[in-house]
Amino acid sequence: MVKKIIHDPIFLAQKSDPATEKDAHIITDLIDTLKANEKDCVGMAANMIGEKKSIIAINVGMGQLVMINPQIVSKSKPFMTTEGCLSLAGEPKETRRYFEIEVEYLDRDFKSQKQKYTGWSAQIIQHEIDHCNGILI
Ligand SMILES: [Zn+2]
Repeated sequence: MVKKIIHDPIFLAQKSDPATEKDAHIITDLIDTLKANEKDCVGMAANMIGEKKSIIAINVGMGQLVMINPQIVSKSKPFMTTEGCLSLAGEPKETRRYFEIEVEYLDRDFKSQKQKYTGWSAQIIQHEIDHCNGILI
């Protein structure tokens, strides 16, 4: 189901709880809402649709990559960039990102995964994981 995007900075500043298999319905809503906003948005965290659970979804090519309880386990090649956010009004803000990251997460089937990402997808993943930690750009 497509959900409303949360803009409340106090809600968004709270750290999300780890997700369990009971939260699987949130994944469907997150993907539906990401698809409905794909013109303005390349990734979304569950708290942006009002669910304080550590789940993110990212547009990749023809589909969506879902990460449950994602953790960045290594990062390298920092750089400064500007980013916008669907939950925040106003101009894009400058922030520090890493060009290469390695992420541990559970996939949609709650199977453990470890994967390296670089460039644009790495940047989106960092933005969405920040959301899970209550961090806004
Ligand atoms: Zn955002």
